[in-house]
Amino acid sequence: MAITKRQAADLAKQTFDYAPAPEAIDHVRIQPRYGLFIGGKMVEPHSKKRFPTINPATEQKLSEVAEADAIDVGKAVSAAGTAFTSWSRMAPSRRARYLFRISRLIQERARELAVVETMDGGKPIKESRDVDIPLSAAHFFYYAGWADKLEWAFPNRRPRPLGVAGQVIPWNFPLLMLAWKIAPALAAGNTVVLKPAETTPLSALLFAEICQQAELPAGVVNIITGAGKTGSLLVSHPGVKKVAFTGSTEVGKLIQRSLAGSGKRLTLELGGKAANIVFEDAPLDQAVEGIVNGIYFNQGHVCCAGSRLLVQESIAKPLLEKLKQRLSTLRLGDPLDKNTDIGAINSKAQLEKIQALVESGIEEGAEIYQPECKLPERGYWFPPTIFTNVSQSYRIAREEIFGPVLSVLTFRTPAEAVEKANNTPYGLSAGVWTDKGSRILWMAERMRAGVVWANTFNRFDPTSPFGGYKESGYGREGGVHGLLPYLELV
Ligand code: NAD
Ligand code: MN
Repeated sequence: MAITKRQAADLAKQTFDYAPAPEAIDHVRIQPRYGLFIGGKMVEPHSKKRFPTINPATEQKLSEVAEADAIDVGKAVSAAGTAFTSWSRMAPSRRARYLFRISRLIQERARELAVVETMDGGKPIKESRDVDIPLSAAHFFYYAGWADKLEWAFPNRRPRPLGVAGQVIPWNFPLLMLAWKIAPALAAGNTVVLKPAETTPLSALLFAEICQQAELPAGVVNIITGAGKTGSLLVSHPGVKKVAFTGSTEVGKLIQRSLAGSGKRLTLELGGKAANIVFEDAPLDQAVEGIVNGIYFNQGHVCCAGSRLLVQESIAKPLLEKLKQRLSTLRLGDPLDKNTDIGAINSKAQLEKIQALVESGIEEGAEIYQPECKLPERGYWFPPTIFTNVSQSYRIAREEIFGPVLSVLTFRTPAEAVEKANNTPYGLSAGVWTDKGSRILWMAERMRAGVVWANTFNRFDPTSPFGGYKESGYGREGGVHGLLPYLELV
């Protein structure tokens, strides 16, 4: 039976109570302590040191992981070096089989991986379940397909692997970043030593088990845990021929400086401050969903997040009204609850960084909006936030906040939109919302961003290259492009 307009309006105002829908965690076994995965085995760290990893939603300790020192790093690189001899000479179709197997095992253990990813990092279970884990499996599946077709990928060239790759990844997409790094490296015939971030090491340690289950030859994948010191020991180890880093621009610059003249190959995937641009002819309701997905997905801990909303002046008012209304329906809380939209901030340090930048926005004169939202007592949380009245010179318009905070700016003409969008030291991604195909192409041509999404945002596919311009780094991951950093073309 149809309802009247009035009834529909009343319904829209009503807030619904949701019964808790927690994901079960009884099938997950997290060990109280972990060693290092070197040469196919879990070994005790030479350092004898361990540090805790916690659940940022509860502040409870989940496990203790090893802190690798110089000797541990040396052992891992040497295990990878030994394994390289046979792995690089193995028939490519056999290498492919291992990668297919790994992809299959990620799918089989998807529920467990999703729960661990959510507990260790704070992201909503619906994201780890529907995005992180399936995409990780898809990356291995995709690159498995390339392993025996490298000569078709680069016709008339002879692609050769480089050797040991040293890979350092961040905490925002722990297993997915591991997949982005390990899958192309192995497909191309390299071996790896990978260091996950210190706040989210657990899914990488589960991945070590998956390597064992897949009977991957010992030493092809080595996982070492630790903080920045361990990362710097790894990238500077002379046995490492190729370095792949994803993380902050600051550390990326440090690594680039320290590798200068070493002859090591380097790719960097760093920060961003993407413009999400909405024109007056855009479908506004769709755009609102895209804006929300662009900046509140994974609590805004996304390097390509649409953290600057550029909206055409003529529609700024209705768009912001719709956006604020939509924000009030987002549910913040227990990341393990299937209805949760916004989970916990990854760490105390990250929460403090977000708080400081938000303070600066208020001090510089921007207007803050936060929907009514009760934050849990334990854990690290930040409500979804919108800043209006933002000038391009404000820190919240220039610096990467890496949290659920959107800065709104307006523009009048497409040329002004391009100028504002490009007015940033970064260049990782951008979004355009408009009804006109010609305008999408016009904008995409002029924006200095590695990825430009049109009428969508934060869409990923293993076949599509991803990477930045300017201070967002260089090199591409994904697609055929993603194989190149791991090959020498003779
Ligand atoms: P970070 O760059 O310090 O850490 C990323 C990884 O690098 C971690 O594994 C870390 O242990 C390692 N690392 C740290 N110092 C190192 C060094 N000198 N040599 C080698 N490896 C090193 O990032 P963070 O401190 O965790 O986050 C700070 C800011 O970085 C965030 O607020 C955000 O703005 C940005 N960030 C960006 C991304 C991204 O995907 N581009 C990811 C995480 C953080
Ligand atoms: Mn943790």
